Amino acid sequence: MKHIRNFCIIAHIDHGKSTLADRLLDFTGSVTEREKQNQLLDSMDLERERGITIKSHAIQMEYTFEGQDYILNLIDTPGHVDFSYEVSRSIAACEGALLIVDAAQSIQAQTISNLYLALENDLEIIPVLNKVDLPSANPEEVTDDIVDLLGCDPEEVIHASGKTGFGVDNILEAVIKRIPHPTGIYDEPLQALIFDSVYNPFRGVETYFRVMNGSIKKGQRIKFVATGNEYNADEVGTLKLKQFPRKEIKTGDVGYLITGIKDAREVKVGDTITDAKTPTTNPIGGFEDVKPMVFAGIYPVDTEDYEELRNSMEKLQLNDASLVFVPESSAALGFGFRCGFLGMLHMEIIQERLEREFNMTVITTVPNVSYHAFKRKDVNEAIIVNNPSDLPDPSSLDRVEEPYIKATIITKADFVGNVMSLCIEKRGLITNQTYLTTERVELTFDMPLAEIVFDFYDRLKTVSKGYASFDYSPIGMRTSKLVRVDILLNGQIVDALSSLIHVDNATTIGKKMCEKLKELIPRQQFDIPIQAAIGAKIISRETTKALRKDVTAKCYGGDISRKRKLLEKQKKGKKRMRQVGNVEIPQEAFMAVLKLN
Ligand code: GDP
Ligand code: MG
Repeated sequence: MKHIRNFCIIAHIDHGKSTLADRLLDFTGSVTEREKQNQLLDSMDLERERGITIKSHAIQMEYTFEGQDYILNLIDTPGHVDFSYEVSRSIAACEGALLIVDAAQSIQAQTISNLYLALENDLEIIPVLNKVDLPSANPEEVTDDIVDLLGCDPEEVIHASGKTGFGVDNILEAVIKRIPHPTGIYDEPLQALIFDSVYNPFRGVETYFRVMNGSIKKGQRIKFVATGNEYNADEVGTLKLKQFPRKEIKTGDVGYLITGIKDAREVKVGDTITDAKTPTTNPIGGFEDVKPMVFAGIYPVDTEDYEELRNSMEKLQLNDASLVFVPESSAALGFGFRCGFLGMLHMEIIQERLEREFNMTVITTVPNVSYHAFKRKDVNEAIIVNNPSDLPDPSSLDRVEEPYIKATIITKADFVGNVMSLCIEKRGLITNQTYLTTERVELTFDMPLAEIVFDFYDRLKTVSKGYASFDYSPIGMRTSKLVRVDILLNGQIVDALSSLIHVDNATTIGKKMCEKLKELIPRQQFDIPIQAAIGAKIISRETTKALRKDVTAKCYGGDISRKRKLLEKQKKGKKRMRQVGNVEIPQEAFMAVLKLN
């Protein structure tokens, strides 16, 4: 145990975490030439393309320092706020963290939020000033910022470059010298923390764990505390780029477990693994069931693909337990699913995976948060509303509550005014303003989560000319004056376009929605009135004018085989369009409310 170090790398997105991890693997000889590929830890294609780490992974390195062999377990953490619970569990599996700060960008919102998570778990922090090779690097100033933030000595900040490999030896030395070795008692009942799991279609779910006390042996009968399920430890081992089966993984070490589990939902990050016969009396704290934050409908473009979509979603759920869905039907779109996601990025990922891995073409409706509606006749019982069109009749309601977040924004002093106006427009209440340096300010707001879902990131980027970083955490439900804004096309309510909006903004947003939809809905042979309504009251109206010339007329009545060919061609290209009544609605229209500015 004395020669094991468990550590993670935390950083704001793009500060170079994955690149530096690659350099550590190179330097310790943990990868062969053939295995060398940029950003080795980001194994999903999607992760690599987007340059983000979606799921955390672990990798074991061997390193000899001053004549002594060490085992260094690097636990990679996802960088995006949607996956912050996984970050917190990965951090809980470590004794230390490399805090990477880009020498040109300095401290950003996720630098701070991740640092807090690490400090809450009593991790030893090793600050790394990365990208010192950049011409735009500002090493002195950024070192000062780090020193201010951590209260450390400037000498403790390691200068490095993931690009050139500079400083990597110093990082490894610091990992060995500064990070405490794990502690724990081998003779105690098994107590291991699940910090990640990966779905493998052939071998079942692979569970990644860190042993806190005791050990886990091949063949052992084990139990997951939170789910209560028991399994046989068919295989345990250590994780390098490949898996190395072992007889036993001991106290302090990190490994993988295979039990033949076929459904990712059985393995919950944060759960404790223990022995089935002599279970620990002390499960590891901090376990939470991850809750979806954002909901949207997913519908097949072709109604006849519904069953296929269901199959695909079920398969996807086997390897992504954070995806939840229930069947729903929409008057406009027919049969589909109401899906819950961890956040907007997660939603995009699911949509993309459905298309890439399952060849589905889907329509995604306006995302919304989960509301709690309370009826006057029972003011204490929350009715969960995951779809705006399920909101009970407003006249029967006592109140509606919506989820709030604490938003943290770091920006330059010059943009404080802009950022504040934006956050206030988004119903934010400022709770704190701190000058980190004379140039850089940290602002915190209490804000409705729904406002983050609606075009917040893009707006923030614009008003700050890109010099703002953002992070958030949920702070519970609050009562808000919300009304449902419905959209009518050709006089018909399109339920999939309804949204819950604060009463003060409803008219403005209804108007903008109509304008946006007018741009997005293709012109047809007839006028299409576009209306926004609150209850029976129309608050706005636009019209998509009829085409002047009937260009599709030549298809009709004419050569029937030509018409069929055209139709087939269209089907092949599977445009993301849905026919609602006699109006064709393109996918973008369902997202229009997100892009009103
Ligand atoms: P992550 O989001 O923290 O994992 O960041 P990445 O490792 O994906 O790096 C983000 C971008 O910065 C990529 O384009 C890298 O090539 C680049 N990058 C990373 N480290 C360095 C470095 O030390 N120097 C320079 N010049 N670029 C770097
Ligand atoms: Mg990365």
